[in-house]
Amino acid sequence: MGKRRLNKMLKITPYLGIFVLIVSIGGLWYPALGYFVLLIFAAIFLISPFRGRWFCGNLCPRGSFADFWISKISKKRKIPGILRSLWVRLPIFLLMMGFMGYRISNIIGTLNTFEKIGTVLVTMCIVTTAIAVLLGSNLSPRTWCSFCPMGTAQRLLGGKRYQLQLENDKCISCKKCEKVCPMQLKVCQNETKLDCIKCGRCVSVCPKDALHF
Ligand code: SF4
Ligand code: SF4
Ligand code: SF4
Repeated sequence: MGKRRLNKMLKITPYLGIFVLIVSIGGLWYPALGYFVLLIFAAIFLISPFRGRWFCGNLCPRGSFADFWISKISKKRKIPGILRSLWVRLPIFLLMMGFMGYRISNIIGTLNTFEKIGTVLVTMCIVTTAIAVLLGSNLSPRTWCSFCPMGTAQRLLGGKRYQLQLENDKCISCKKCEKVCPMQLKVCQNETKLDCIKCGRCVSVCPKDALHF
């Protein structure tokens, strides 16, 4: 029973997307809301060394926003393979982190530092959400999550942790697991899945109970 519970996403996961709107819209009036982004960063760096990208599939507000909001308007196409490549992801990671660091370093020591840093964080949230909505609606809901800098950081910190296990002798190759995977992974191939977000959808849908963590 305990093992089964771990194989499913959290009950609160579908409701977390609302925080994306609260920070992106409310942050225009209350820049302090931007500091919510720092909480997310902290959670990611605490969890990923033990659970890989579990945060992405269970606690990230934008991930929830993609799965339960963007999916309603998504054309549900294939995510371009190039976006999963570290050759694309690492420069994006360095560029975005560098740009944010640069903007914040220019603010420190000026008047209203707290508010201005909050504004930088809110702006980052708005820009990345806009990209996520644009890509998610035209391609697949989780397209942004294929190359999001925070997803890349989790993959680098703990991609091999808490791996999905496939019992080959039980699998009947029905591919139901692959149809529900929001990251469009090759679920029923017994290989290390560094970008698995541990959402548990494949586990729930498998008719042969061949998948578990
Ligand atoms: S990849 Fe980024 S946006 Fe997507 S769920 Fe993970 S941290 Fe959130
Ligand atoms: S859903 Fe289960 S049985 Fe079907 S292909 Fe996936 S792992 Fe195999
Ligand atoms: S393989 Fe896909 S569906 Fe299964 S837990 Fe990982 S991300 Fe979710």
